[in-house]
Amino acid sequence: MGSAKTALLLTTAYNFEERGMRYVCLKPVVDTREKINVIRSRIGIERECKWIHADTDLYMLAQDLFEQSMCVIDWFLIDEAQFLTSAQVDQLARVVDDYGSNVICYGLRTDFQTHLFEGSKRLFEIADTIDEIKSTCTCGRKTIVNARIGANGDFVTEGAQVEIGGDDRYISVCRRCWRNKRIEQATKNTLPLI
Ligand SMILES: [Zn+2]
Repeated sequence: MGSAKTALLLTTAYNFEERGMRYVCLKPVVDTREKINVIRSRIGIERECKWIHADTDLYMLAQDLFEQSMCVIDWFLIDEAQFLTSAQVDQLARVVDDYGSNVICYGLRTDFQTHLFEGSKRLFEIADTIDEIKSTCTCGRKTIVNARIGANGDFVTEGAQVEIGGDDRYISVCRRCWRNKRIEQATKNTLPLI
């Protein structure tokens, strides 16, 4: 959704590969129309990943992977971690605690209505560390909101938390620009049509 997090994940994966470190990339499936399991960034690089479905038990998935490769996998890189369920975040924590693997989750903090995603909420609650990837709004302030853009260019304020296939419909803005734009929209919509 327009941030640098996927590129960062792919760069990390590349570094692990160069050093011969054992890792696996995973990603929750949101768009089931996607046929190829890849993590793709806007700058053009991509990497194969395993899909996480809503009912996937990540603790069991990790155990299966360890069995297949006859060893513990040291690193798990998770893209779009905001779409994990709360239970899946707990399962990842158990993988860390029981096997000593490291799990890095890349994701958004909040949705287009500024509310926490389920996966992000649980990560804030139990992750060992949280690093913020900062980006800058067109006005120069730090971006806070992932605004959803409607067909007319307005910020959308109602709708489902996740929309399939609408990745290009988001823009990161600061809290102030988000508020001002919504005030502007509200004013525009209440003007009498002459
Ligand atoms: Zn701004």
